[in-house]
Amino acid sequence: MQELKDRIMRDGRCLEGGILKVDNFINHQMDPMLMKACAIEFVRLFANEKFNKIVTIEASGIAPAILVGSLLNLPVVFAKKKVPSTMDNYLMTEVFSFTKRRSYEIVVDKRFLGPNDRVLFIDDFLANGNAAKGVLDLVNKSGASLAGMGFIIEKAFQQGGEELRRQGIHVESLAIVESLDNCEIKLR
Ligand code: 5GP
Repeated sequence: MQELKDRIMRDGRCLEGGILKVDNFINHQMDPMLMKACAIEFVRLFANEKFNKIVTIEASGIAPAILVGSLLNLPVVFAKKKVPSTMDNYLMTEVFSFTKRRSYEIVVDKRFLGPNDRVLFIDDFLANGNAAKGVLDLVNKSGASLAGMGFIIEKAFQQGGEELRRQGIHVESLAIVESLDNCEIKLR
């Protein structure tokens, strides 16, 4: 998606350890018009898939997910990173965070993910694929099925995309970072 690629080249910053900082339009300050354009592109890319729900993980996935949900008139469920005291019947799995370098648990209430659901997963980044695998685990545990996974930015120099596609999952990324070597952003 050219608009997104131009924005990454203009406003993205490279951090040590292969991290792309995009906190001025995705991860902290958000650009709603760019997020809406991303959502329109996700809708186009997954037009041939059937699903009844959008799933994401808090926090940065919520904005693009909700915009996709609003375009398709579908509910959006976000996996939570803390179990609310009011939640008593939930599915849980563990995710290793690439940027925070520690594991955390994600949960989803069983009322919002079950055998009648076929879901599209939307998230901001695909790196090693741990967040995506965690959500896939929740989807499998719930008896739901997966229609596809859409990411705003995929880092091709990490293994997540390859692993998910090898499993036969329909993966779409709106911008693909080939390399961040020497702190130079190279896009596909
Ligand atoms: P994964 O689980 O695929 O290894 O990493 C995905 C998650 O880690 C994303 O949801 C995102 O929050 C975070 N992440 C991974 N790589 C980057 C990066 O280069 N920049 C930013 N801002 N977040 C990243």
